Amino acid sequence: MKVLVLNVGSSSVKFEVIETSLEAIENNTEQKLGRGLIDKIGMTSATVKFTRPGAEPFVDTPPIWDHAAAIKQVIKLLTHPEHGILKDASEIEAVGHRVVHGGEYFSKSVIIDDDVAAKIKDCFELAPLHNPHNLKGFQVMHNLMPDIPHVAVFDTSFHQTMPRHAFLYALPYSVYQKHKVRRYGFHGTSHRYMIFSLERKFVKKPRAEFKAITVHLGNGCSIAAVDGGKSQDTSMGFTPLEGLIMGTRCGDIDPAVVLYLMGKEEISMHEMNTMMNKFSGLQGLSGSSNDVRELTEQMQQGNERAELALRAFAYRTRKYVGAYHAALGGAHYIAFAGGIGENSVIVREMVLENLEPLGIHLDKERNRSVPPGGGEITKDGSPVRAFVIPTDEELVIARDTVRCIAKTQK
Ligand code: AMP
Repeated sequence: MKVLVLNVGSSSVKFEVIETSLEAIENNTEQKLGRGLIDKIGMTSATVKFTRPGAEPFVDTPPIWDHAAAIKQVIKLLTHPEHGILKDASEIEAVGHRVVHGGEYFSKSVIIDDDVAAKIKDCFELAPLHNPHNLKGFQVMHNLMPDIPHVAVFDTSFHQTMPRHAFLYALPYSVYQKHKVRRYGFHGTSHRYMIFSLERKFVKKPRAEFKAITVHLGNGCSIAAVDGGKSQDTSMGFTPLEGLIMGTRCGDIDPAVVLYLMGKEEISMHEMNTMMNKFSGLQGLSGSSNDVRELTEQMQQGNERAELALRAFAYRTRKYVGAYHAALGGAHYIAFAGGIGENSVIVREMVLENLEPLGIHLDKERNRSVPPGGGEITKDGSPVRAFVIPTDEELVIARDTVRCIAKTQK
């Protein structure tokens, strides 16, 4: 079946059409038919990019005022007589929606009905920058395609297996009961993809038999400790701000700093939030960029602040690798994914070098020459093996969509 995967953000819509089925998932014969990005929604000219395998990308800059117009544009692109991939929109048999927050309601992907939509809405407070747009995307698409199943795939659901001692903050217990304040974790689809790839492609062993540390380093960064395919701990918390240093987010800091700075700088809660989310991380430390490519170049030209930012970024990641190695009682595998995890030789080296006492024997040459499909970066015989795994969150969403539908048809 042709599944449309939809990821609706505050000013963008990302989409991909994947031809898949239970059999195709089993045999790894799914086909990616085309994908696109509509960005800068609501601005004078939006940017539209649509790519089909083997063809030049189609690029346009029409005005797109809101999400409803953007989603109609998706259908137009897919059915465009020249650049499209479908004769008619009715060829789409299901839609998989990325939903950031499922709170404690969802530990799996589900078909969206009125009750599910109400629960996604109930999580607005937990993810005010994401869930309202995710739900809007569903509502618009559902109006256009009311007769096919729509499935919600949550960033948080994979981490619902975390035990209480890992997900609770040491605040009064009543805060958790009253306000649902706890660690939720995010990037679940990417962490799951890494586990799937370890199982099927890289170590060819059932996930029940191994423990892994999965490291997603992109614009947002998170790391997870996974035992038998189940998330035991992860670095992002109540929001995606906790944990690792990220492009523009600070990750872990002493919470007292927030109170202190709000007083000293006389800034509002909103301004403090903006500082921690938009002006911190690699950007804040370097003062020049949030992009590891640029920082690496600057470091090589002797820029000390760029070097400091990269060192702090790698050091925080390294500390979490060590912590999760202990939390799991020894991991068998480590996987790197995301724009930085997949591409930055230097960050991976800084994270894993000189960790032989922990059983991690990095092979610097392998780390420098990872093939496009991913590969091992530790030496033969390394007690803990590390891999680079190009992540594919859209594929996970399409697969869940097919599986959810199959379950209801049983
Ligand atoms: P993502 O959010 O997964 O798309 O990751 C985006 C980030 O990956 C960018 O901001 C860069 O910091 C980083 N990145 C992308 N390509 C490269 C590369 N070739 N080398 C190093 N870092 C990269």
